[in-house]
Amino acid sequence: MSDQRSEISKLGEFGLIRRQAERIELNHPTTVKGIGDDAAVVKAGDKHLLLTTDMLLEGIHFDLRYVPLRHLGYKSIAVNVSDIAAMNGKPAQALVSLAISNRFSLEAVDELYEGMRLACKEYGVDLVGGDTSSSASGLMISVTLTGFAAPDKVVYRSGAGNNDIICVTGDLGGAYAGLQILEREKEVFLSNPDAQPDLQKSDYVVGRQLKPEARMDIIHEFEELNLVPTSMIDISDGLASELFHIGSQSGMGVKIFEDKIPIDHQTYETAVEFRMDPITFALNGGEDYELLFTVKQSDLEKIKNHPDIHLIGHMHAAKGEHVMITKAGHQVMLKAQGWTHF
Ligand code: ADP
Ligand code: MG
Repeated sequence: MSDQRSEISKLGEFGLIRRQAERIELNHPTTVKGIGDDAAVVKAGDKHLLLTTDMLLEGIHFDLRYVPLRHLGYKSIAVNVSDIAAMNGKPAQALVSLAISNRFSLEAVDELYEGMRLACKEYGVDLVGGDTSSSASGLMISVTLTGFAAPDKVVYRSGAGNNDIICVTGDLGGAYAGLQILEREKEVFLSNPDAQPDLQKSDYVVGRQLKPEARMDIIHEFEELNLVPTSMIDISDGLASELFHIGSQSGMGVKIFEDKIPIDHQTYETAVEFRMDPITFALNGGEDYELLFTVKQSDLEKIKNHPDIHLIGHMHAAKGEHVMITKAGHQVMLKAQGWTHF
């Protein structure tokens, strides 16, 4: 190690991971894919095993002043299932590691586990182990999830081809809208503890923030339709950031159309209320856990009338040129913001 000290913030989260990934050698014959996708891929008999892990930290990823523990437990499983879905796989086993302080009662831990139990039931996951430690500060939950897929069905971020159609499921920006509402109501409450939170007219977006669902329904439909997307990623850091991953790992450019991006009316109204552009919520808000994927033009028939799949653009051969055509018809360069934790 040299004496030099560089700030992590200079590289950002993705730069930091890329830097370490470049230095890591893969030697095991069963390792198919290491760092760089939504899950690692490992040979396991006639199937591929998918491995993913996600950590949730109090004060960084959640605020217990408005996140119920049961929801937090559910979310800690769902966000991992979302990464397995993004590989076109099916989830199987979960390992749960907790760091917890004596601030939490037995009942509180029961609530957290009840949420995890519900999510495991919903997604067909067995909770098979984990680790427990005391924590000097906040609560930490780290979940590792396995999944399986047939080797020829695994979908990577890197497979998008020229002219492939870019699709997203559901609607975008809702979870970020919900976060804005919850943060605002928290401030109101802190300044006046008698105030009642005004959440009713924001029920949809608050739900998007507090109780995200992984889109396993779409993965099952792909199977029924005999459709294998050419590339896929889940939308955890905002559409723009995920488009950059698909574009750069596929060595292509992306072109999307602003008027095709699905935004729920409550998300739209919340953005307006906060004097922000709704499209910014969709492009740069996080935690929607929808799927972004590409399909060949020849597969368009299979999905074009699907009520919950939106065709938002297409890939093009100009590598690194990631653009959006605005409602006014102007072409703007997309910026990948993602989340910077540092
Ligand atoms: P996602 O948002 O899909 O969970 P991330 O952006 O967290 O993906 O991670 C991208 C890739 O980097 C994944 O392959 C993940 O396993 C890997 N990764 C993230 N953090 C680390 C780390 N500290 N060490 C090694 N690999 C990491
Ligand atoms: Mg992911």
